[in-house]
Amino acid sequence: MVRTITFSRNVFLPLTNVCANACGYCSFKEPVREGCVMPEAKIRATLQRGSEFSCTEALFTFGERPENEQGFRKHVEAAGYPNILSYCEAMSRAAIDLGMLPHTNAGILTYEELERLRHVSASMGLMLETTAEIPAHRHSPGKDPAMRLEMMGNAGKLKIPFTTGLLLGIGETSADREESLAAIRSLHKRYGHIQEVIVQNFCPKQGTEMAGSPGTSQEVMRETLVMATDILPKDVSIQIPPNLANAATLLSFGVTDLGGVSPVTIDYINPAHPWPALGALQGIAAGYELRERLCVYPHYCTEEWIAPEIWPPVKRLAKLIYG
Ligand code: SF4
Repeated sequence: MVRTITFSRNVFLPLTNVCANACGYCSFKEPVREGCVMPEAKIRATLQRGSEFSCTEALFTFGERPENEQGFRKHVEAAGYPNILSYCEAMSRAAIDLGMLPHTNAGILTYEELERLRHVSASMGLMLETTAEIPAHRHSPGKDPAMRLEMMGNAGKLKIPFTTGLLLGIGETSADREESLAAIRSLHKRYGHIQEVIVQNFCPKQGTEMAGSPGTSQEVMRETLVMATDILPKDVSIQIPPNLANAATLLSFGVTDLGGVSPVTIDYINPAHPWPALGALQGIAAGYELRERLCVYPHYCTEEWIAPEIWPPVKRLAKLIYG
């Protein structure tokens, strides 16, 4: 039987690059300055274009706790919102109005903040990255593994379909990767909310503390994918990013998903790595059945998992995409 590989058609919307963390490998973070909040007109135009390209997912992301950075608040207020979460909520509603499903990756959030965003998000995400304490995270309080696991647990309590993942090659060991996967498994066994786990290779970026790092080898990717297949429950999808990993050579190691791919926007976290065009994705997945999915997986498309405000577009798109 031919195995299925899925992907989601999205638009990528970084509301701000300002972040309270300072990870040793990051080239996304930017200082507070004029233009540090993506203008509403640009977001609305991107959403409009996404809907014209039949994108089903609006991926909202931003640096963690930007309000902790001095001077940031006045920029978000100038955009017309009291804080970045309010802005995210409003832009999520703009996406919903166009028939797209928001998937939000907002860094560490409290239980109350998660609950608030759940009303306007089909699914949410937070990379665990690693359970290990690593030098690359020494200036990033939000990368405390216990804090990240706690937030993922809160998402489970709130019944939020959730995406997480490992970032490989940032200073962790093979045993750390095993421990990280086991921690994700435990959360999923308890709450049943982990819909996918991204196995992401770290790509060093110029001008960062880790620019000289060799990056993640194919061997480590293969080993971790095999580990993930062994450790994670079968209903959890295993994803690799097709613009970063040598995807075609890795699909046979248990990969089931190629993540979000955009015909409209770039990967703002890895701008030097363009997403493959949808036609090229067919080539990467040659020998498999490539199938489009929503940001929310089929078994979560129920009123138990989806908030009332977003249920109508989820129901409509689930019928269209999943049948
Ligand atoms: S949390 Fe994300 S955006 Fe912030 S510094 Fe780390 S990698 Fe960059």
